[in-house]
Amino acid sequence: MHELSVAMGIVRIAEQEISKTTAKKVELIELEIGDLAGIELDSLEYVWGAAVQGTVLENARKKIHRLVGIGICLDCDEKFEMHRHYDSCPNCESFLKKIIQGKELRVKALEVV
Ligand SMILES: [Zn+2]
Repeated sequence: MHELSVAMGIVRIAEQEISKTTAKKVELIELEIGDLAGIELDSLEYVWGAAVQGTVLENARKKIHRLVGIGICLDCDEKFEMHRHYDSCPNCESFLKKIIQGKELRVKALEVV
């Protein structure tokens, strides 16, 4: 499952970060996930427990910030919210756009102990 590799990637990032410190484990991890990142939050939730087992994230609380998709129309410069990759411009209905937000998947913050 795609979300499992996503979760394991997050674990790797957390382990790298924590290895730079004297901390032993993560208390809180904050993630930013864009609406267009192609990640099902339910699936991520489902695999999370297994992915973090025995890692620095095992007992960490997880906070997820959603980032709405935002595109700029290449035909009329309209800036608009996107919920799916194939959303068209609400102003001129063009499908040509540049996505400027919504594909993020990043670790925003870690609180360690
Ligand atoms: Zn447009």
